[in-house]
Amino acid sequence: MDSVAVKTGMSFSETNAQKVNGKEADLQDAVSEAVTEQDAGLEEENIETPERKEFRRKRVKRIKLILILLLIIFLLIPNILCGVLLYQLHKMNQNMEILREEIKLSQEEIERRTRESAAMAIEEQKKKEKEEYGTENLVQLHLTDEQKYPGKQLVYLTFDDGPSKYTNEILDILEKHEVKATFFVLAKEGYDAEYNRILAGGHTLGMHSYTHKYSVIYSSMQAYMDDVNSLSDFLTEHTGIKPKFYRFPGGSSNSVSKVGIQSMLHFLSDEGYVYYDWNVSSEDASPTMLEASVIAKNVLNGIGSKKEAVVLMHDAASKRSTVEALPIIIESLQQKGNVEILPITEGTNQIYHVKEKDASEINTDSAKEETVIEEDAVLDQAVQEAVSEAVSEELKSEEEAKAESEALQNEEQVEKEENESAENAEAKAEPETIGEADEISEE
Ligand code: ZN
Repeated sequence: MDSVAVKTGMSFSETNAQKVNGKEADLQDAVSEAVTEQDAGLEEENIETPERKEFRRKRVKRIKLILILLLIIFLLIPNILCGVLLYQLHKMNQNMEILREEIKLSQEEIERRTRESAAMAIEEQKKKEKEEYGTENLVQLHLTDEQKYPGKQLVYLTFDDGPSKYTNEILDILEKHEVKATFFVLAKEGYDAEYNRILAGGHTLGMHSYTHKYSVIYSSMQAYMDDVNSLSDFLTEHTGIKPKFYRFPGGSSNSVSKVGIQSMLHFLSDEGYVYYDWNVSSEDASPTMLEASVIAKNVLNGIGSKKEAVVLMHDAASKRSTVEALPIIIESLQQKGNVEILPITEGTNQIYHVKEKDASEINTDSAKEETVIEEDAVLDQAVQEAVSEAVSEELKSEEEAKAESEALQNEEQVEKEENESAENAEAKAEPETIGEADEISEE
């Protein structure tokens, strides 16, 4: 204020004294006003400081809070999302488990139903037989086929080595012609439907071999028993029905076996199995595929006027012409009249190449005589020749079937096959051995 007064005082002029005085007064007013305002401002500032501080603190707090909230939100969102995803995954897993269970259950249900339908078909067959032969006399149920069909020629169509890709086609043909047959099968995975359809159709499901490898089956008595038991277990497991009938790979007269035939026959009868060979061969086992007409001719000629004919055929992937021959065979037999085509059952007379002997007979017989073909009424000399031929053909077919199944399986079995080539050579030498057996029996 003083400095302004001095400054204004220094710029004083006498001529313009009044003017200057007026200006000075104005300036003084303005300055004093400004100062008052400044003072007022300072005063005001000094008074509002705590409130402002409080206000600022609150604002800072608020901002901090917002920041923390934002941080929490940003941290929480991924976690929440992760949690949700994990929950969804867990739920999906649970659903998968449920679905898996359901699939398993429905598969089991399907298996159970096919088994039930097979069992029902057998029950129905029994009922039908009961009705047909009188309920008052149950003994009638145990009639032989001969007694059931007196004066008729009995033909039993048998198929070895199945199931195969042709099994269903064979079953269709049999169904169409209302004919029942017998299948001597192997243990094959993935053919449950075929095994069960055979049974449900009223056909006979018989055993042939678990491995169908001669070098394994006939290597020792234990190996032989294992083969039969494994197949029996396999079929019981897959169909619910324990098989009763059996056919030796290569027939009971095969000379490949290192095990005495009588030991094997005793084992079979101890276990309650009945074995069937054949007395008519379709020759469909020959290495070159025969035409359907030739197979049909072989079968029809082979049956001839035999009272009972067990016909050997094959249900194998390489036996297309057998399937084609089947309708020709069935239709010819049905046209012939007086012929009954039947499945092998308890009522079927046993057709065999080698007969089981009593213990006393074995003691007196030499081991060599074990392979002698039994002189049975069924097997006249001509039939025996046919049989020896058929056996050699069957052996060839077994090799074929074996090669086929091994090709389908993995490479490790190819190695085994190589080991077996020595055995196969042995099998090929068989016709001679059987020829010898024929000579002995003729003597
Ligand atoms: Zn076979």
